[in-house]
Amino acid sequence: MFFGMGRLVEPALFCALEVPGVRPQRRPLAVLDLICMRCFRWLLILSLFASCAGAATTKQSKPARPPNIILITLDTTRADRMGFLGSTRGLTPNLDAVAQQSVVFSRAYAHVPLTTPSHANIFTGTYPQFNHLSFMGQPLAADLPNLPDILKHHGYKTAAFVGSMIVDPRSPVAAGFGRGFDTYDAPFHNRRKGEDRYRSVERRAGAVVDSALTWLSTHRQGPFFIWVHCYDPHAPYEPPEPYKTRYAAEPYDGEIAYTDSEMGKLFSGLRSLSLYDNAMIAVMADHGEALGEHGEHHHGVFLYDETIHVPLLIKLPGQHFAGKRVDERARLVDIAPTILEEVGVAIPTAMQGESLLRLMKAGGGITPTIGVDADRPAYAESDYAHRAFGWSALRSWRTGKYLYVDAPERELYDQTADPKAVLNLAPNARAVADTMQSQADEFRRKTMRAEDATDVCIDRAQYIRTCGTYASSKGTALSPEQSESLRALGYVGTDSSAAAEGADRGPDPKGKTDIADLLDQALVSIQEEGFKEAIPKLQEVLKAEPNTPLAYLELGRAYVHMKEPETALPFLRTAVEKLPEDGMARFMLGRALVETGNWGEAAPQFEAALAHAPSSPNLHFYLAVVYERTKKIPEAMKQFRETIALEPDHFRSNLLLGRLLAMQGDSAEALPYLREAAKIDPKSIEAHLFLANVYAKLGQRANAERERAAVERLKLGKP
Ligand SMILES: [Zn+2]
Repeated sequence: MFFGMGRLVEPALFCALEVPGVRPQRRPLAVLDLICMRCFRWLLILSLFASCAGAATTKQSKPARPPNIILITLDTTRADRMGFLGSTRGLTPNLDAVAQQSVVFSRAYAHVPLTTPSHANIFTGTYPQFNHLSFMGQPLAADLPNLPDILKHHGYKTAAFVGSMIVDPRSPVAAGFGRGFDTYDAPFHNRRKGEDRYRSVERRAGAVVDSALTWLSTHRQGPFFIWVHCYDPHAPYEPPEPYKTRYAAEPYDGEIAYTDSEMGKLFSGLRSLSLYDNAMIAVMADHGEALGEHGEHHHGVFLYDETIHVPLLIKLPGQHFAGKRVDERARLVDIAPTILEEVGVAIPTAMQGESLLRLMKAGGGITPTIGVDADRPAYAESDYAHRAFGWSALRSWRTGKYLYVDAPERELYDQTADPKAVLNLAPNARAVADTMQSQADEFRRKTMRAEDATDVCIDRAQYIRTCGTYASSKGTALSPEQSESLRALGYVGTDSSAAAEGADRGPDPKGKTDIADLLDQALVSIQEEGFKEAIPKLQEVLKAEPNTPLAYLELGRAYVHMKEPETALPFLRTAVEKLPEDGMARFMLGRALVETGNWGEAAPQFEAALAHAPSSPNLHFYLAVVYERTKKIPEAMKQFRETIALEPDHFRSNLLLGRLLAMQGDSAEALPYLREAAKIDPKSIEAHLFLANVYAKLGQRANAERERAAVERLKLGKP
């Protein structure tokens, strides 16, 4: 399984991985051409060795002073809202001003319309079929090339300032995203009841920019690489005043205008720190927002331009090529290679994008550059429809004038005549659609991991037939914590992909947008703890689509949260039947069983969930409690220890393990756990009481007295 192996693979070993069809690492060919073949071979070996030893990079001729790099990602930002891309809405005066000093890319494309996979494309320069991040909650593997890591190895100070828990590497949904960053500013936590979302799971662009400017004021000497991430345009659309009132009818536009105003503060802060002119600044979106087009409200399911076409501008140091517009396709996988080339660091062979500098330099003037390069196709995919609803995953291919969508009912659009992708040409243009399909399949095969793209697994259908389900081969079951965090941020995910017969195929999402919308509304209600409002919506979904596993799961969750575990049970049993590999479904069924007193029946549910998500502290803890309750004491202690290993400050595990050990007569071993519990929650009467008893058993009278005094103080309500 890849992820298990990925942790063991050292970056140096990664160099041995050849990616067919991907640009070879550049080398000084003019010199090598003059050298005999034997010497050439040795030089090649030495060059590869040097490359591997240097974290997959080698130094090229560096400029005297490497430029500072500022990478800005505007989450969920549509290209057609940008003034510099022709919008007349007047939302982005600050970005437009920087665009005038930059190279603007009129046709830039994302590869996955979801936050963490898209940022993985940006940072690693690799496609989802290679980095295995096609859905949120999947970790950024340690053996992938990674822009911040490479720059750090070349002397850069690196820092991230992000706007949402969805890219917080401490949260269960963005594991591995902290690699290479000296500083990762992500002050988030799970939202507590009644808490403001902008003080828990996300924060406003203003707070992100303030943090970045504070850091910059003490790191002016550089060179630095900073990533600034603004999450505001992501739903819910709730811009602060005055944008809230000004854009009351179009709150999404209000979020864009607000974010632009904060970008203005960032740019003027850079100017006052004298950091603007010589910096390379790249601004892009991770994906767009559908806003009702093609029946989709947010993003994630479809691959049309409203979510895949993204704004992109790159300001070079000294405002080189200011005002130039590039009309060739640019891809988010091209960003990391572009930055590396600009700073004079060799691009790792494993990066699959191509530097955009050649396009930026071509022609030299401000005339559009189309025609300079050969057609640059853009690939995108999304498993979201399958992960969330059990429908078909989608893939898209943009080449020539066409957009092709690989779906159960395939689609072909002429993007020049039909930019809104309204008229599906596929039924009457079979030959073109066939060509597009085979090009997309071939591209995907060439850009997969070498170990995934074996000769017998030529395309997805064949891969599934010969190699089993694609998703399960990646070992990406979501833990309950991951599912919960995603739900808090407005996403859902199940492991239906691993459970379903046809791997990532299912009904065509095109005919299902009403259901998706209804489910979406129910999930928004649940997110806001509106369980009562969510229930009729979920029932309506099941009336129309009785096979929607997620609706059963969410109904069960809603009833568990409403303290009606008996009512929840049948829904959760159906959810587990339909989604046997889903951690959240097993976890919720286990909880409902515990809450209805079915302790014995609960254990197999937690055991099954743990088999798929072994690093979930909550699952270990619940299983420990169930084992303790069913008198399986050694098993319970083992699970408490597992919980503590994963989450050392897990209060209840420390407390209960300490208590169990004390009850077994092992006071010496109980002591450190109880001390830890009292340290984690000094106001816990139980912790001090158990601790007092253990000290007494150990003959430590003074300590026992002190703990008893603490108990008395706490009983009287004193700290
Ligand atoms: Zn996003």
